Amino acid sequence: MTKRKSTRKTTNKKKSEAQKQILLEKREQLIKKLTESKREESAPELDRGDDLDRAAASRDQEINYMLSSREREELRAIEEALEKIEMGVYGVCERCEKTIGAKRIKALPLAPYCHDCQSEMEVAQRRNRELGL
Ligand SMILES: [Zn+2]
Repeated sequence: MTKRKSTRKTTNKKKSEAQKQILLEKREQLIKKLTESKREESAPELDRGDDLDRAAASRDQEINYMLSSREREELRAIEEALEKIEMGVYGVCERCEKTIGAKRIKALPLAPYCHDCQSEMEVAQRRNRELGL
């Protein structure tokens, strides 16, 4: 059983404290991943197979590289979100400045835009891609 105390003032703080915790954990995991993939890159264990092995190995490295650059971007997004929490603007759309829905924030803690802006931008991006821009 949970008793509901009337401590409304602290509710928001608690909420962002929880968000912060989630983000900090995410950051921890990412950093771990990044340092691990770096270690793999520097391990010179390539030269002991036929061409097929070598081809597979370099493809793996490529994937690794792609992953880590995406993860680096994610890391930056996490830092930005943490900053926003500090400034008290976390969960506000960067484009239209409306509050991003709690559901969306829960599903996508790093989303800088509300659902409407995000889909608008995706449509625009797709159009640009189709036009070859
Ligand atoms: Zn928006």
